Amino acid sequence: MFNFDIKVIKMKRHLIIIFPLIALLVFLAVQVFMIISIWQQEKVNMLMRYESLTKEASYRLLAAKKVNGFEKAMDITDKFAGLVINEKLPYLGSAADTANVREEVLNHVYSILQENEALSSFIKEYIKKKGYSTDYKPFTWISYFSLLTDGGQFIISDTVPHEDEIPKTVIIVDSYKEEHNNFVIAYTTLIDLTEINSMVFRKAFFSILLITLSVPIVVLIFWFTWRNLMEERRLSDLKSDFINNMTHELKTPLSTITVAGRTLEKAQINSDPGKVLETAKMISKQSVNLNQLINTILEVSLLERTEFELDRHKVNVDELTHQIVSSFLTSCDGCAVVKEEYKAAGIMLAVDIVYFTTMINNLLTNAVKYSEKDPAIVVSTSVADNEFQVSITDNGIGIPREHIDHIFDKFYRVPHGNIHKIKGLGLGLYYVRRIAAAHGGDVSVSSRPDRGTTFKIRIPI
Ligand code: ADP
Repeated sequence: MFNFDIKVIKMKRHLIIIFPLIALLVFLAVQVFMIISIWQQEKVNMLMRYESLTKEASYRLLAAKKVNGFEKAMDITDKFAGLVINEKLPYLGSAADTANVREEVLNHVYSILQENEALSSFIKEYIKKKGYSTDYKPFTWISYFSLLTDGGQFIISDTVPHEDEIPKTVIIVDSYKEEHNNFVIAYTTLIDLTEINSMVFRKAFFSILLITLSVPIVVLIFWFTWRNLMEERRLSDLKSDFINNMTHELKTPLSTITVAGRTLEKAQINSDPGKVLETAKMISKQSVNLNQLINTILEVSLLERTEFELDRHKVNVDELTHQIVSSFLTSCDGCAVVKEEYKAAGIMLAVDIVYFTTMINNLLTNAVKYSEKDPAIVVSTSVADNEFQVSITDNGIGIPREHIDHIFDKFYRVPHGNIHKIKGLGLGLYYVRRIAAAHGGDVSVSSRPDRGTTFKIRIPI
């Protein structure tokens, strides 16, 4: 039942992450889709608008002047066609010669149209008046041209483009077919909106900008929410680890006391005063442990509610540090080799002696606790940049890089496989950091796994 509950909670946690992520991806996809749709729609609208504008313009020209604007060009072409019929066609020789004449004639007719037609400039004027950009290329396409000779038609060009050959940006304005004295022509006037993309961009700029802006805003909100969620998760994991550790830590002395109590209840032990004394000592030792544990927890919860109130006194901090190291070694029965290097030149520093002692003791305890070899510790002090510094270096297991940033957090413990193997509540370093900060200083750490760790406390003088 309990396992099942944990599984459900874990699943729910995953869903909390997965659902918003899916929502974010869907949102992004919708935004991209919207930008593409707006772009395509604007492009279609733009092409339709230009198509109707150019058509309107050419009808207006026709209505006003009863001509389509190509009359002058047609007259000139007629004269030119007459000249070609009389002066070129009778003297055509080889096929290459004929092909050359065809090309020359067609090019010339194109230049006549370009120079003499009045429709393009009328359209341009009209579009400008309507407030639209005239950033396009007008041109005329001759699909059929033949010279009328006595013997029939001499075809110069007969090319109808396939639909796929016409670029998507080209708009057909109108098509004409005319027969004059000397020629027959079929031609189409077109405009090519080569700059359509920048025109669409200018038109749709604000809608696209708004949509584009909404993306980073939503991503940012998502990121903040996500980060908070992760932080919440981390804290809740830390708390449950803490409760597990605390339960374990409390149970050990309690069960020893229980067993000792039962031993004392047995009648035969009364005849062995040595055993009674030993058991009583065990009870009192475990009671002290229990008391210390409870005090630590109480102190930390008190720390959370109130600010530190330091009782600072000026002391020779090198001497104080030496005393702390000595009594630590006595209380742990010489559990480590400690090299002491005091270089603070007997400086007098105002510290809270109790808290300062706790801080150094916590670091020394850890230096011994997190060591798999015989602990060799270096305690050194110095003065630099108007700061007193004390560093404690050990030859222990070190701290993996990914945990370094968290070790001063409340309840944080580096997982060492079996979390209960090395006892602790994850409060020691948290306490060190708070005490250092209360003295206006800080604590930093550098560590190399399997080589050792150095903690450095700095306190302004
Ligand atoms: P606790 O020792 O109760 O777990 P601390 O707050 O004192 O809590 O330490 C937090 C974590 O930092 C520990 O779990 C340990 O993994 C790591 N740590 C602290 N000091 C050292 C050290 N000297 N060497 C290696 N690891 C350390």
